[in-house]
Amino acid sequence: MASPAEGAAMRRAIALAALGLGTTSPNPPVGCVILRPDGRIAGEGWHVRKGEAHAETQALARAGEQAAGATAVVTLEPCNHYGRTQPCREALISAGIRRVVIALIDPTSRGEGGAAMLASAGLDVEVGALADEAGILLGPWLTAQETRRPVITWSYVIGGHGITPLPAESADAYRLRINADAILLSDGSASEAVPGSHGGGILTVKDITPGTDARDAATALYEGGVRNLLLHGGLDVAGPFLERQLIDRVVAYIPDSYESQSPAASLPWPQLPPGFTILGLSKVDGFARIEAERSR
Ligand SMILES: [Zn+2]
Repeated sequence: MASPAEGAAMRRAIALAALGLGTTSPNPPVGCVILRPDGRIAGEGWHVRKGEAHAETQALARAGEQAAGATAVVTLEPCNHYGRTQPCREALISAGIRRVVIALIDPTSRGEGGAAMLASAGLDVEVGALADEAGILLGPWLTAQETRRPVITWSYVIGGHGITPLPAESADAYRLRINADAILLSDGSASEAVPGSHGGGILTVKDITPGTDARDAATALYEGGVRNLLLHGGLDVAGPFLERQLIDRVVAYIPDSYESQSPAASLPWPQLPPGFTILGLSKVDGFARIEAERSR
């Protein structure tokens, strides 16, 4: 069982990992906290983008010699492969970490990941701490790994003129973009959602030729490193993805200037596409905001 101090540290690690949203793909957002036996935090870190230091090595660097005998609390299983950086399990072992508390196992490790190596090196390893809460952050990345396509979000305004794109200059449009890897417009043009946010050359986002099957388009974007895709437009961009049940989440807006009246005649459904259920409702600048996901 993770101790209360370890649970508190895990919540900190999960929150820190959120700083990597929209920049780490194709890598996952990960956070790590180094906890001293007296409950003090000696170092913390998070992964910013592919090719840069992992959360564990950032946290170990901050902790320095304080890492010896400490517990590493990390949201995802430490890696076990030699890439551009040393494997994190090796860094944890050589820093003298005694115990490792992990929320979720990395499905790409196929049981031969860092957790097994850490345990066989004699460290005390605990897996599954606050897994549900870590899943709020890592869920989309894990889903994308499993389905081999990005998690797809569609944002739209629904009002007297039917279904229209969210104005690009609205604060919420920017908020959606910084959480996504790529954005796809009605004309098939695809681009990094915030140019340069992943570091040059990490994402290879190619335009989608009109008429390309939506599943093939999603696969191509996944292969280019995209894990979170934002559809920006009306039914012209979303229609083919809806038809193939490839949209996971919608964020719908009703302008707050909207007056009670007869609905626009052109609407295919009153508010949400069939199969979606409401997750959250809020008022944002100029709109009521309705967040929904495909029912599972
Ligand atoms: Zn790593």
